[in-house]
Amino acid sequence: MSDQAMSFQLTILGTSSALPTSNRYPTAQVLHVLGRFFLIDCGEGTQTQMRKYQINLFKINHIFISHLHGDHIFGLIGLISTMMLLGRTKDLHLYAHSEIQRFLTSQINFLYFEGISFKIIYHPLNFKKEQKIFDDPKVSVYSFPLTHRIPTCGFRFEEKQPLPNLIASKIEEYQIPIRDRQRIKEGGDFTTNDGKRIPHAELTRSTHKPRSYAFCSDTRFDESYIGSVRNVDLLYHEATFASDNKDLAQTTYHSTGEDAANVALKAGVGKLIIGHFSARYKDSQAIVAEARSIFEATYETNEGDVFNI
Ligand SMILES: [Zn+2]
Repeated sequence: MSDQAMSFQLTILGTSSALPTSNRYPTAQVLHVLGRFFLIDCGEGTQTQMRKYQINLFKINHIFISHLHGDHIFGLIGLISTMMLLGRTKDLHLYAHSEIQRFLTSQINFLYFEGISFKIIYHPLNFKKEQKIFDDPKVSVYSFPLTHRIPTCGFRFEEKQPLPNLIASKIEEYQIPIRDRQRIKEGGDFTTNDGKRIPHAELTRSTHKPRSYAFCSDTRFDESYIGSVRNVDLLYHEATFASDNKDLAQTTYHSTGEDAANVALKAGVGKLIIGHFSARYKDSQAIVAEARSIFEATYETNEGDVFNI
């Protein structure tokens, strides 16, 4: 199978908190799951970052916005304008707080009084409970409430159980015709010419465990969302501060490295990546170190990093 068909890959486009720095952009990430490209948050400069890291704008059909703070949405109008300049006609799905429609419509109306060349389909998020917001034959996406100053959601992306592979030697042994193979992959048995029934389980081998990724930004540490990120393979959690600014983290509804690591530990995730670093830190070493002392498989994120699941 091609890489594209097997891919579950996250590209980091922005890792700063509210103030961009000379080497960090505000929050944005692209998750590529089996040919689908999901944009998660859209801080200022997202479209230039996409260009830099070779993410094709036309592949983005679904955008997930955690909350309506500038460092997560200022890139939207630029991205939408460029899509328009490039002649996009395909619908663009936007999953966000319902108020985003007012925010974007006023800018679009100001810039393009004749309207734009494609439709934006708004999908309002639920900030009270977890909800399935996207579903197709291979992937489901869920939103779940976080704890920030304004309504904020995290997102969980789940691959569905992939179809098993047919075992080549069994195809040979039972002379299974091509026309029957898909049906067997989907759970069917096979009956030979002399009427012998060969069960599905004997003919197939499961491929891989379905993969998952969860995104938590921005939020204060809270037990309430741990269930929503339980056992994911990869967790992104904001870690704006180190514990020297624990009080500030509390009052601004942000997390420390320690908080992020505690979520990862309690949720039993495979790997933790952290970002949304405050500009007050020269580098993220202290934040990463304190997270690692609690949850060893912690990695910092930098622009252009790619994580394969
Ligand atoms: Zn933020």
